[in-house]
Amino acid sequence: MSDKDIKTILEKEELNKADLVFLLNLREEKSQDLFDKALDIKLRNVGNTIHLRGLIEYSNLCEKNCLYCGLRKKNEKKNIYTLTDKQIDNCISEAIRLRYGSVALQCGEQSSKEFTSKITSIIKRIKELSLGKIGITLSCGEQKEEVYKEWFQAGAHRYLLRIESSNKELYYKIHPNDEKHSFKKRVACIDNLKEIGYQVGTGIMVGLPFQTLEDLAEDILFFKQKDVAMVGLGPFIPHQDTPLWKYKDQIHSDKERMLLTLKTLALVRIVMPKINMVSATANQTLDPLGREKAIMCGANVVMPNLTPTINRKDYAIYPNKACVQDTPNQCASCLERRIKSINHTILYDQWGDSPAFLEKNK
Ligand code: SAH
Ligand code: SF4
Repeated sequence: MSDKDIKTILEKEELNKADLVFLLNLREEKSQDLFDKALDIKLRNVGNTIHLRGLIEYSNLCEKNCLYCGLRKKNEKKNIYTLTDKQIDNCISEAIRLRYGSVALQCGEQSSKEFTSKITSIIKRIKELSLGKIGITLSCGEQKEEVYKEWFQAGAHRYLLRIESSNKELYYKIHPNDEKHSFKKRVACIDNLKEIGYQVGTGIMVGLPFQTLEDLAEDILFFKQKDVAMVGLGPFIPHQDTPLWKYKDQIHSDKERMLLTLKTLALVRIVMPKINMVSATANQTLDPLGREKAIMCGANVVMPNLTPTINRKDYAIYPNKACVQDTPNQCASCLERRIKSINHTILYDQWGDSPAFLEKNK
C-alpha cells in the first residue's frame, strides 16, 4: 500500500474492521499520518488541555487471579498493604493543595461488606474535605449493582473497568475460566455502571500473548458500540510472578508494543473524537517519553500518583512502574514540565468531564 492509500483510508467517514487492521499494521515510518490525523481530531474536539486524576492506590489486596497481574491473590510474593485513614486524608490534602480537580481511587478487587462500606466512607471523606469540589473516579473492579449504586450516591461519578479483551476466547486465555472471572459478568458490569449514571471508561492491554490485530480492531469497535465516555489502554508488561510470564519471549518487543499502543490510541481517538482518553503510566515503563507520545496520539488525561511513596512499590500490577520513588510533589512538577514541552496545558481545579458524556446528558 502506498502513502496515498493510507491517506485515502484516513479520510473515510467511518473506519471498518479491515481499515482498522490495515492501520494497526502500519510500520513505524508509515504511521505518522495516522498520528497526525488523531492529534488534529483531538485538538478540534477536546483541545490541547490535559485533565488530571490524582491516583490513590488504596490497597493491593485482591480476590482475583488474573493471569497477567502482580496483584493476583495467588502471588505470595506481594507485600500486602491497605492505606490507613490518615494516609488517605493526606492524599486528599495533597490533591487539594496541588489543585487536582479530580482523583481516581484504584485497588484490587474485594467483595466484603467491610471493604465496600470503607470505599463509601472514603468517597464521602473526599467530598467533605474538598467541600464537594473534587470529582471522583473509581476503579475497584466488579461489584454488585447495589454497591455501584451506593458508591454513586456517595459521590463517585466515573468508573473505570477495562474489558481487557473483547474477544471472549482471548479473555479466557488471560483469566482463569471460573465464576470469579466471567467475561459475561465483566460486560454486564460495564452496562450496569452506565445504567446507574456513571461516566464509564473501559479499555484493554495492548500486546498480550495470543492477541491479534483483528482482536485490537474488534476492541476499538467494542468501545464504540458500548459508547463509553472514557478509554484507558496501555501496553501489556509481563510480570515475573504471574502465569503469563512464560510467554514473555513470544510477545512483541517493548518497542513494537509501544508503537502498537500508540496506533491503537490514535485509532480510538479517530473513531471516538470526544471521549476522554488516559495516557497510561505503563507507557512510561516502555519508553521514557511514552506518556508524551500518547498525548500526541490522542490522549487527554493523565493520572499523577498521590499514593504515599512508601506504598507505591507494593502496588506492582506490572514491574518497573515509573515514578515509584517520587513524592506527589515531584510527580506534579515533572508532569507540568512534560506537558508544557509538547504544547499542552494542564487544567487545574476542574472535574474535566468528557464532551462525549456532557453532550449526551445535557
Ligand atoms: N482491580 C481493578 C483495578 C486495578 S487493575 C480491575 O482489575 O479492574 C487496573 C488495570 O491494570 C487492569 O484493568 C489491567 O488492564 C492493568 N494491568 C494489570 N496487569 C497488567 C500488566 N501486567 N501490564 C499492563 N497492565 C496491567
Ligand atoms: Fe486483581 Fe485487578 Fe489485578 Fe485482576 S487486574 S488481579 S482484579 S488487581
